[in-house]
Amino acid sequence: MKDSNCIFCKIANGEIPANALYEDEDFKIILDRGPATKGHALLLPKEHYANLYEIEDETAAKVLPLAKKMAAKMTKAFGCDGFNLVQNNGECAGQTVFHFHLHMIPRYAEEKERIVCWTPGEITEEEIDVLAEKVKHCTLITS
Ligand code: AMP
Ligand code: ZN
Repeated sequence: MKDSNCIFCKIANGEIPANALYEDEDFKIILDRGPATKGHALLLPKEHYANLYEIEDETAAKVLPLAKKMAAKMTKAFGCDGFNLVQNNGECAGQTVFHFHLHMIPRYAEEKERIVCWTPGEITEEEIDVLAEKVKHCTLITS
């Protein structure tokens, strides 16, 4: 399904032109227009899924193999030294476009700026146990 109000649906399906690095029947990979680094790209499914919660398993299963292949190609093309894969879900997580996308961010050894970072917090053994138990005992109803 496509969402007629979604800019990434329009880009992924060719209604809005984009500098595609890759395209197949399920995905388009485009350059980000507000790049974190040189070559920052976005992997977009052609079908509309708002986020990780909604993406179908069949499509999700193709995302990482494609990212792996493209990371190798982009590493060769751009001469980068590493890669961050980032995928935001929900406004609180920094998602601004509500069509599933995987950020593919080439990293360069000479960069001084920290791009994907956090300050490590603290947690007790007891708190870790409680969190792990919560998830292990949580059941989902799936169709
Ligand atoms: P997120 O914050 O994870 O939802 O990421 C959205 C990303 O989409 C940002 O990095 C934007 O720079 C990028 N973006 C938004 N509109 C466009 C566009 N028309 N073409 C390319 N990238 C875009
Ligand atoms: Zn969409």
